[in-house]
Amino acid sequence: MKTILLILFYLTTLFGAKIEFEVLGSGGPELDGRASTSYLLWVDDKARLIVDMGSGSMLHFEESGAKLESLEAVVLTHMHIDHSVDLASFVKAGYFSSRHASLDILGPDGNSYFPSIAEYLQRLFGSDGAYAYMQDVLEDDSDSFQIIPVEIDKKTNRKYKDFTLTMIPVHHGNVPVIAVRIDVNGKSILISGDTNNKNHSLEKLAYGVDLFVAHYAIPEFAKGYATQLHMKPTEIANIAQKSHVKNLLLTHRMKRTINREKETLEEIKNIYKGDIVFAEDRMKVKL
Ligand SMILES: [Zn+2]
Repeated sequence: MKTILLILFYLTTLFGAKIEFEVLGSGGPELDGRASTSYLLWVDDKARLIVDMGSGSMLHFEESGAKLESLEAVVLTHMHIDHSVDLASFVKAGYFSSRHASLDILGPDGNSYFPSIAEYLQRLFGSDGAYAYMQDVLEDDSDSFQIIPVEIDKKTNRKYKDFTLTMIPVHHGNVPVIAVRIDVNGKSILISGDTNNKNHSLEKLAYGVDLFVAHYAIPEFAKGYATQLHMKPTEIANIAQKSHVKNLLLTHRMKRTINREKETLEEIKNIYKGDIVFAEDRMKVKL
């Protein structure tokens, strides 16, 4: 019996699912030749999860060969434009697809500055929304497929067919934001979301992940308001080192960090000894 179990274990390892993480958008809100933030999880050549939908991400989604019919969930880490604006394009494209299964849209709760994910969908597609002509997407008898808001206001686990998500609120000034850990076939990915990690939430999800996708929006010498929103390179490095992260992907790149890659690498390598890669649009990481 033990031998059979061992053989099964090795077969599972040999023929385990093919897991890939694709960057659809490696930029922030600037107009700088990059799509804004967006990521795609591929399992056995099928797109299963999209995290964030910044501007330009839907064009790259299409170019990547992904089909919206195969998606199991969408996560919007927060409601800033550079993370959410392409959702409306996605939903409209869905009308012309053959998808009929409903789709969860996960996101943070709201506050007096930002709508929750449920309010956001209402303000876009509700009967008084900007795109009220698409209001049936919020109903179960939708002509295309229903989108279902799922609000995350505390550490939450959610299981889908091909992966499990663990989400936790992180600090980003006055903006509700969630970080997302993806566990898939024995591999793990942590997406920081936009945060300065003031509350040290990221360490709660980062331990031992294969890939830490860190939003690298400010240089080490940044001062003032930007540091209330984003992590400095040494903060990213400290999390990666303490949590024994295997690989680090630096993304959400902006003009203030472009052409500072060499010094950033030195700053991070002083603390963190794993592999470090700077993200580009359409870059695919095999796990
Ligand atoms: Zn952002």
